[in-house]
Order: sequence, then C-alpha cells, then structure tokens
Amino acid sequence: RRPYSDEVKRAQSADSSTGTIFDKIISKELKADIIYEDDLCLAFNDIAPQAPVHFLVIPKRKITTLQDSETSDKELLGHLMLVARSLGTARAPQGWRLVVNNGVHGAQSVYHLHLHVLGGRQMKWPPG
Ligand code: 5GP
Repeated sequence: RRPYSDEVKRAQSADSSTGTIFDKIISKELKADIIYEDDLCLAFNDIAPQAPVHFLVIPKRKITTLQDSETSDKELLGHLMLVARSLGTARAPQGWRLVVNNGVHGAQSVYHLHLHVLGGRQMKWPPG
C-alpha cells in the first residue's frame, strides 16, 4: 500500500491539462481490474487500495474535475453515483464511503473525474 502522503505529493504536481492514465484504461490500452462497464462509465479496482474494497467509478466521457462539471452533466453524475451505490453495496454490505478528490487541496492526482468507493473496514472521521 502506498503511503497517503505520496498520493498527496503526486496530486500537488499533477498536470490537469493533458490526457490521463484513465483514457488508456477506457480504451483498454492499459490493463485494469475492471469490475463493471456500461456505455457511460467504467468501474475498476484502485491500483493502490486504501481499504479492502477500493474501486473507482469514472465516466467514459471525460470530465476533468467535479468542479468543472456542468448542469448538463446531471444525468451522468447521477448515473455514476447509482453505479457506485450498487457496486459498493454488493462488495461492502456493511457500508462504504464515497470520495471525490477535487483539485489541488482536494488531493486530486488524476484529472479525469472519478468516484472512490472504499469499504470492507471501519472508516474513520475526519479524513486527513
Ligand atoms: P485521486 O488522488 O486523483 O483522487 O485518485 C487517483 C486514484 O487513481 C488513486 O487512488 C490511484 O491509486 C489510482 N490510480 C492511479 N493510476 C492508476 C492506474 O494505472 N490503475 C488503477 N487501477 N488505478 C490507478
């Protein structure tokens, strides 16, 4: 497991203007442990899991950050949450956490919107 501080460092130096590794996962150029796919989104296990259950739900159409999403993305954003709900409940029936890191202070390291779903252990609060 990579320490969280590495993730924060990576996030602080992330380039939000170019394509991301998630484009390659969507196009299947890069292998990922895909757990769900439909026309609008893809869900796959995080490469550096922070909990026994840790997967990402991403839109196939790129939205860079949640901050940059638009009112017209309402259905797509709702769809991502509903997919996160179904997969999260199936994989972590005792509960799970949904996280969206947004921008530099949010510790976002990949500039392609993604919902983190974490579960399989007791989550703590507040987050770091
Ligand atoms: P962020 O910090 O941007 O919210 O989260 C990005 C997440 O993507 C991190 O949890 C990181 O481990 C994960 N990630 C980065 N590169 C890859 C990859 O190539 N494959 C997979 N499966 N996950 C990745």
